[in-house]
Amino acid sequence: MQLPENLLQSLENIKGFNRKSFEEIHASGEQVTSIRLNPEKQPIVHGRPWSMADGVPWCPNAYYLSQRPSFTLDPLFHAGAYYVQEASSMFIWHALKNVVGQDTKKKVLDLCAAPGGKSTLLASYFTDGLVVANEVIRSRAAVLVENITKWGSDHVIVTNNDPSHFQSLPGYFDVMVIDAPCSGSGLFRKDPGAVNEWSEDNVQLCSQRQQRILADILPALKEDGILIYSTCSYSEEEDEMIADWLVSEMNMENKQLDIPAEWNIVETTSPVTKARGYRFYPDKIKGEGFFISVFQKRATVEFARLKEQPIPFPSKQEIQLLDAFIQLPPEYVLFKQADAIRAIKKEWLTDLQLLAKCLYIKKAGIEIGTVKGKDVIPSHELALSPLSHTAFETIGLTREQSLQYLRRKELLIDDAPKGWNLVGYGGLPLGWIKVLPNRVNNYYPAEWRILKE
Ligand code: SAM
Repeated sequence: MQLPENLLQSLENIKGFNRKSFEEIHASGEQVTSIRLNPEKQPIVHGRPWSMADGVPWCPNAYYLSQRPSFTLDPLFHAGAYYVQEASSMFIWHALKNVVGQDTKKKVLDLCAAPGGKSTLLASYFTDGLVVANEVIRSRAAVLVENITKWGSDHVIVTNNDPSHFQSLPGYFDVMVIDAPCSGSGLFRKDPGAVNEWSEDNVQLCSQRQQRILADILPALKEDGILIYSTCSYSEEEDEMIADWLVSEMNMENKQLDIPAEWNIVETTSPVTKARGYRFYPDKIKGEGFFISVFQKRATVEFARLKEQPIPFPSKQEIQLLDAFIQLPPEYVLFKQADAIRAIKKEWLTDLQLLAKCLYIKKAGIEIGTVKGKDVIPSHELALSPLSHTAFETIGLTREQSLQYLRRKELLIDDAPKGWNLVGYGGLPLGWIKVLPNRVNNYYPAEWRILKE
């Protein structure tokens, strides 16, 4: 792979950059694959189709795989048992441990969230909190919804908004992760085609866009709130120079992180304000190129009384039908979005109403189902959520049957009780079937079915 000469030259004086080993690792063709397990969904099967070698040092439940299997053909992947995530970006976990610690009842925004790697990590970290996962590009927001649904968390709200729309929520969030769109040089090893799209002009454009995004979103961070800024670019204009701008222009205080030296992560200081940032070079660590820097907001935030958007609730009759179908734990409240009946923890209802006032909500809490006449049609989200585990038995499928189900093909299941049933693999639900007297209807979502044979 021929790396852009302009990029290599621009990195010559940056701490930790070693041209020879950097070029060698890009030429080696080595690929690193890593996954992060879902702590809420540990399968009971022993023979996993992948073997786990070493753990990722900076993130619990995360492992390097000795080879890259076909994730598409692994039912556990579709059940949300793990997320395939580049190892360096899992460092967010360690950063959070440093600056947030154990108090996880926070309101958290993942502004640039698709496809959902950081959002699923945040959902696992902030178990008592509320995570808003936002993606501005509509098609990418759909992928985000899919991945959040598979992860199954009930405390994530997915939105599809421009960063400027969050200005109606002054001082609302305790923590923000801005994993900014960037020129992408850190991913050249994974995606060699991206080399041809790299240019110095694009680095400048990205840097300006990063400032614009940050300027738009920072009013929504509360005083003393935490900002985590990251990119997968090596360019100083997108990394340390943004850190400088945040400190000198935006009243943000930079935070130094405590990191074991043996991890080989390079701490840099920005040219003007000496803000600390952390660089991940693929010739030094097992992962791709990544930059992260952490800040605390020191500006005061004007208090604004936010108005709530009334949210429709299901009718008495709908609630009765739903109660007969599933007994929800008492901490949940039901609400409606179009025809669908959804559940969210009561403690987050007011927040949902506030967010609904100014944001386009794609998904909040867990969709339970829709009522058609006297029937409840259960939702796929319910199948993949923790709510279904306690309420329904899961019919265990073999791997072949699971793939048949995930391809949305016909299933033959002996002795299944009539009506709605959950089917699953390794003890983890994959979705619904409806057993009729003469056939079994497969309710796996058509748009998610696997096409690979
Ligand atoms: N955080 C994601 C993850 O871990 O899976 C990856 C995010 S990717 C680096 C950056 C995201 O920013 C993309 O999904 C992209 O669509 C989005 N984006 C692009 N332009 C944007 C803008 N002007 N404002 C906010 N987000 C933008």
